[in-house]
This record gives sequence, structure tokens and C-alpha cells, in this order.
Amino acid sequence: MSAERLPMVVPAADLPDRVRIYEVGARDGLQNEKGAVPTEVKAEFIRRLADAGLTTIEATSFVHPKWVPQLADAEELFPRVRDLPGTELPVLVPNQRGLDRALALGADRIAVFASATESFAKANLNRTVDESLAVFEPVVRQAKDAGARVRGYVSMCFGDPWEGAVPPHQVARVCTALRNMGCDELSLGDTIGVATPGHVRGLLNLLDEEGVPTDEIGVHFHDTYGQALANTYAALEHGVTTVDASAGGLGGCPYARSATGNLATEDLVWMLHGLGIETGVDLDRLTATSVWMAAHLDRPSPSRTVRALSHKDQ
Ligand code: MG
Repeated sequence: MSAERLPMVVPAADLPDRVRIYEVGARDGLQNEKGAVPTEVKAEFIRRLADAGLTTIEATSFVHPKWVPQLADAEELFPRVRDLPGTELPVLVPNQRGLDRALALGADRIAVFASATESFAKANLNRTVDESLAVFEPVVRQAKDAGARVRGYVSMCFGDPWEGAVPPHQVARVCTALRNMGCDELSLGDTIGVATPGHVRGLLNLLDEEGVPTDEIGVHFHDTYGQALANTYAALEHGVTTVDASAGGLGGCPYARSATGNLATEDLVWMLHGLGIETGVDLDRLTATSVWMAAHLDRPSPSRTVRALSHKDQ
């Protein structure tokens, strides 16, 4: 690799030494792609991500196949990858049935998906916020009893397509409820990508005041308005050390109206490595993986870094 294909390393003061990247491409990414990907391609994708140095890779969702047909093969996929050495493989479960399926296959990292807003809870979960939290409570308890670590996603933390701006105290209430039921970690989702750095700082400050420990917080930014890395930087300044990202920006097809715009893992790694922050990720291997996956999806990766690094002439 030529020297110009790595960022110059210039550390900034008061940022974390290391960031844990929580890779969501195989689940959040593929669930938002139009077509279903063959199970063995998904398994190979996850193996390649692990080989590129990612240590937390959300593998799939044990949701009813009717709701997310792209992930209907969870039962076949998970056993193919669950023994990858040195790799945590969380799986999403929407309810008790999903948890039972996941635990039966030996999953020991579980995620549940809550909403900060009533409109999205209704649209996505067909329940009120409190009704959905009531569904999760026994699920989280049983997962904890089984020895699993549990992550609580909170979607629509910054803006909601029906409700507009989301009051931070509303987010804090859901975060606190998830922690009280036993979640070990939270992921603050900017599901429609509208957050800006001051907004991120404001929410994280409020969560401090509400007693939510920063080391239990992950951030999940979407690049819909080009703000994902700026927002990530604001979160790093606050001390957040877990950042969600999707290899190649999967799930964020810029040409589709359904664009969700997941932050691309490669774009994140370029910034973090330039800041001298360790990730354990080999950017060349990761980029090669996203180029390989883009060929399977028959469209280019929307990641700027993947495009830059895969053009040999630059
Ligand atoms: Mg996402």
C-alpha cells in the first residue's frame, strides 16, 4: 500500500485512545437492502469483517420472517458464524419468541430495539413506547438470566419524521427505563440522520445529568445530511468509545428513496486512525470486503473512503 492511502496521524487532545466499532452491516445494513443475500454470502461477509479486525459484529435479527424477509435465514446463518474466535456476535430480538430462538442457538449477545418517540414506536413496533418497554422487560431479564449481555437500541433520538425534533428528556426517559430493566449498553440512534454536533453534545450532557454512564453509551449516526462524522467527533469529545457503523455504508443506498444512510465503517476508521485512535481494524482488508460485497449487491458502495481506496490511480 502506498503511503498516501493512509491518513496522516495527528492526535487531538482529550479524545479516547481506543474506540470499539460496533459493526452493523450484516444486520442493519442488509435488512435495508432491497434484495435478500444468500446465507453463505452473509456468513462469508461476517468472516471477512472479523478477519479485517472487527470484534463486535451484529450478525442478524431473530425477527419474524414476514417483517424482515432479508433476515429470514437467521437460524441457518448464526450457527455458521457463532464460533468465530475473538468476535462478539450480537443478534437483535424483537420479542420473547425471538429471544427463545436466539438463545436456543447459543447467542450470548442480545439487542432489543426501542423508540424514543410514540410515532415510530407505533409505526415500527405497533405499540406505544411504554407498551414496547413492557414487552422488552421480561425479554431483557431472561437474556440476563441466561448470561447474555444486552444492548438497548433507542431509535429516533434526535428527530422523528412525524414529530420533528425530539425532546432530549424523552430520550433520557427511555434510556433510563432500558437500564433499569438490565440493559448493559445503549445505542443512541439518529435514525433519520438530522442531528448536528451541538445537538449531540446537548443530549449527552443531559444523559450525564440523568445518571446514564457514558461508558454504557454507543452512538449510531446516519449520514443522510452528511453529519455522521461531525456528530461522531462530538460524541468522542464527550468520552463515548462505542460507535456503530456499517461496512461500506450498507443500508444507505444513496440512489434509493429508502436511503437510511448508515455511517460507513471505512469513513469512520479513516477519521479515527487519522486522530491516532486505535480500532484494531485493517482498513485495506475492510475496504476489500466492502468492494466484494458491493459486487454481490450489484451496486457501488456509497462510502467515500471505499471509493477513494478502491480507485488505484489516485
Ligand atoms: Mg442504522
